[in-house]
Amino acid sequence: MTISLAPTDANATDPLSSVALNQALAENEAELAAVQAEMDRLRKIRSGLLRQTPVACERNNFGQGCGAVTSIGELTYIQTHWYEGPHGCSGGDTWHRGEGQFVCPSCGHRNRLYNRKDVEKLAGLFRVIQAVYDR
Ligand SMILES: [Zn+2]
Repeated sequence: MTISLAPTDANATDPLSSVALNQALAENEAELAAVQAEMDRLRKIRSGLLRQTPVACERNNFGQGCGAVTSIGELTYIQTHWYEGPHGCSGGDTWHRGEGQFVCPSCGHRNRLYNRKDVEKLAGLFRVIQAVYDR
C-alpha cells in the first residue's frame, strides 16, 4: 500500500515546484500567525486572572495590619534594594535587589512579601512597580 504525502506534510522529502513551495510556506505562515494570535489571547486572559490574585494585609505581633484582602492588580509593588558598602580593593559599593513589599490601601501598613514567594513572582502583574533604594 502506498501512502501519498501532501505537499505540506512535515515528513515529505520530494522536491516541490517553487510555486507549490511558496504556496505551502504561505499557508504555513498563516497557520502560525493564527496560532500566535490565539496564544496571545490566552496569555492576556491568564494575566487578567493572575492580576486578581488575592493578597492579605497580614496582622503582625506589633498590632499592625488589618487582614484586608486586595487584588495584586490594584496594588503598587515596592521593589526594595539594599546597599553593600565598599570592601577590599574592588568589592561591594553595589546595590542588591531585596524583597517585595506593598502598602495596604485599607490601613496603610507596609506589608513584606519575603514569606510569600508565590506573590513576589507575580511582581510584573501588580498595577505598577516602584523601586526603592534604602541605605
Ligand atoms: Zn491593612
